[in-house]
Amino acid sequence: DAYLAAIDAANPAINAYVTVTPEKAREMAKASDARLAEGKAGALEGIPLGIKDLFATEGVHTQACSHILDGFKPKYESTVTQNLWNDGAVMLGKLNMDEFAMGSSNESSYYGVVKNPWRAENSNADLVPGGSSGGSAAAVAAFLCAGATATDTGGSIRQPAAFTGTVGIKPTYGRCSRWGIVAFASSLDQAGPIARDVRDAAILLKSMASVDRKDTTSVDLPVPDYEASLGQSLKGMRIGIPREYRVDGMPDEIEALWQQGIAWLKDAGAEIVDISLPHTKYALPAYYIVAPAEASSNLARYDGVRYGLRVDGKDIVDMYEKTRAAGFGHEVKRRIMIGTYVLSAGYYDAYYLQAQKVRTLIKRDFELAFNAGVDAILTPATPSSAFGIADEDLAADPVKMYLQDIFTVTVNMAGLPGLSVPAGLDHKGLPLGLQLIGKPFEEESLFKTAHVIE
Ligand code: GLN
Repeated sequence: DAYLAAIDAANPAINAYVTVTPEKAREMAKASDARLAEGKAGALEGIPLGIKDLFATEGVHTQACSHILDGFKPKYESTVTQNLWNDGAVMLGKLNMDEFAMGSSNESSYYGVVKNPWRAENSNADLVPGGSSGGSAAAVAAFLCAGATATDTGGSIRQPAAFTGTVGIKPTYGRCSRWGIVAFASSLDQAGPIARDVRDAAILLKSMASVDRKDTTSVDLPVPDYEASLGQSLKGMRIGIPREYRVDGMPDEIEALWQQGIAWLKDAGAEIVDISLPHTKYALPAYYIVAPAEASSNLARYDGVRYGLRVDGKDIVDMYEKTRAAGFGHEVKRRIMIGTYVLSAGYYDAYYLQAQKVRTLIKRDFELAFNAGVDAILTPATPSSAFGIADEDLAADPVKMYLQDIFTVTVNMAGLPGLSVPAGLDHKGLPLGLQLIGKPFEEESLFKTAHVIE
């Protein structure tokens, strides 16, 4: 009731929720009370969560914040959300996001931008919460849920977490099932939590993760008790500092924050080593080939026949065209066009195949660093703090917006776990995050290291 009242009061201004499910929430909470009374509490019994609109929720609008999925209510539940309900969590509603998770500012949502609960000191200007999981991050930061699900294809968990002073982890590719999550770029997409602190993120990920017969890329490995890793010593740990992440034009205060993070980890007993990840500079262009290519294929299913919106036409092709023209927003259309272009005969070798080769080189960079004895890598999470809504520079130039992902996309390209932890404030009083990158399926090392920083 307290969370539902908080949503009623604050959501009209913040716009983090696109669907609120009070009846479902109360029904689930009652069931939780009954289990608690019987002494059968699950790990998340009674904990109220917000769910990104990308996760299929049975009988509840699931629209990926796109017009083309208008009114779509799945008859099934995503594996990740089902895992949370099985542990006793309670659903408050569905959270705003960039349309089909394409964006870094939440401005591409059909349901309007989310406002970051944070503002710069002495300013009334509204800021973006980051994207694409901007609703998830804003809802957690504004206390409109205890934690949220999110997804990350190129940074969509970590960048909004950094912009809102929350903790977000994209686990290793395969750690969580993608079944029932609206697909953007299937070889990069992963689900993860956004939470108020490292402990909450550890508890949530433990529940979300599982092997799943319905997603053959999910991995059959035991899910450790992540919470148990908190408070462990960093003695003997080697933290790599990649020199390629010192990019041109990065504000001095971000460099200073990075140095501060290094000092904290040293104090906690970790050994700091300089490393090189030489192919980093190719990651962003390669990502913006691979991700749109996969998106153009995944989004072919929205044709006016099976889901959501249909705009009638004089024949079936006309109906497809009118539906897709009306249903997709600008950014999604841009990605579909880039994707079909790079996959088309004559350009495939020059773009898509080349990007896949680059992807392998990026993955190899990380493997070499880890094989040389590095346990985790520390970098800034984003090249700036939260920027303004309709920022003139970024809104006008999609490529500048794509630069937001400069520190985060390599992790998706390599399939590695990455965590963003709040580490301080900038000169405007806005939160900044540091990113930790780990070895495959070693999320514990990220949790225990982040716990030292938070
Ligand atoms: N900002 C990136 C993009 O627009 C990442 C999105 C994401 O991780 N879903 O593609």
